[in-house]
Amino acid sequence: MERLLIRGGRLLDPKNKVDGQFDLLIENGKVAQVGRNLPDGGGGARILEAKGKTVVPGLIDMHVHLREPGRPDEETVESGCRAAVAGGFTALGVMPNTDPVTDNQAAIGYIIREAIRAGNSRVYPVGAITKGIKGESLAEMGAMLDAGAVAFTDDGHCVASAEVMRKALTYSLIFGVPMIQHCEDPTLVGDGVMNEGLMSARLGLAGIPAESEEIIVYRDCALARLTGARLHIAHISGRRSVEVVRRFKEEGVKVTAEATPHHFTLTEEEVEGYNTNAKMAPPLRSRADLEALRQGLADGTIDCIASDHAPHHYDEKETAFADAPNGVIGLETSFPVSYTELVLGGVLDLNTLITRMSVTPAAILKLPGGSLGQGDQADVTVLDLDTDWEIDKSKFNSKSRNTPFHGRKVRGRAVATIVGGRQVWKL
Ligand SMILES: [Zn+2]
Ligand SMILES: [Zn+2]
Repeated sequence: MERLLIRGGRLLDPKNKVDGQFDLLIENGKVAQVGRNLPDGGGGARILEAKGKTVVPGLIDMHVHLREPGRPDEETVESGCRAAVAGGFTALGVMPNTDPVTDNQAAIGYIIREAIRAGNSRVYPVGAITKGIKGESLAEMGAMLDAGAVAFTDDGHCVASAEVMRKALTYSLIFGVPMIQHCEDPTLVGDGVMNEGLMSARLGLAGIPAESEEIIVYRDCALARLTGARLHIAHISGRRSVEVVRRFKEEGVKVTAEATPHHFTLTEEEVEGYNTNAKMAPPLRSRADLEALRQGLADGTIDCIASDHAPHHYDEKETAFADAPNGVIGLETSFPVSYTELVLGGVLDLNTLITRMSVTPAAILKLPGGSLGQGDQADVTVLDLDTDWEIDKSKFNSKSRNTPFHGRKVRGRAVATIVGGRQVWKL
């Protein structure tokens, strides 16, 4: 029997309302016991000393782009999972806009097999809503679910047709899984490359109005109400979009939302100097939008934090702003940036942060995890919340370096990551 005793730490388990000095005994991949001064079973258990550290349910990032198949030079399932556990993540929801698109059973199976082979974080594939992410005909959702898909999205693209989205939501009722929407009306995005406003005018760059998001958020919430299906809004960025989600939630519509660390930490000002690591979809917006995201995370309008980890090759980002691809990486910066900005910034308490980064993503995707009760899967993250450090992209485990947070001073990081009782990361 394999045993691991995590000893002497502060155990914070929001789902089971535990917060105190407790040891955690893991046996055969499951939580066997939580208590004070647990014996090590006569020396039979491996000991992980966690004195001065905080022990939480493994963090879950439900929005990650691994670039396999298609662009193994940017990220592979293996390198992405390594970056994940280094960032404290024990499970990932991975997006289907690979090449070829993850829109069939075989493609889902491929990702799952690669993740098992990599042996770090768990990987839960999210399948495409439409064949080839073309927004036209629905993909084989049933077959993908049988193969292990946990949700569906055309992320990278918005399902622009209301009729197709209504069909997808109706179809999803059979399975009870969420449809995840990348909310940007493509006809309003047009050639836009950054948030539309004074900044875009000053830089002479084509803008994307926040209304491009708000319109789709409203439309899809209305379709979720019409169908009774579950809708999840990816990377919400605008204050009026947050307001729409709040109103539909009050009505009892089954909508959830996520926000990224870059959207609640950075504004369009980052684009100054044509910084391509400040280019993403949806774009960084204004200070008022950023504040609304923080308020939404605090009051629960926004259910969870997801990184939208989007690796790109150095050369691709080293180009004119308008030509650079969208997206930034986030797995190794998500927790420290969120902790520093939200907890130390006085927006949330730690309990709420762990809820947003572990408990709610598990609930939205109906994954095991997000809980350290007896018998639960032993996915655990050990955090050091006292250490001050500077983000250094040259030290990333990810294959890519496209971060907007290089050089940023942060506090807190994962120092040990345990997946199924097996320690897969140690700082
Ligand atoms: Zn997206
Ligand atoms: Zn994405």
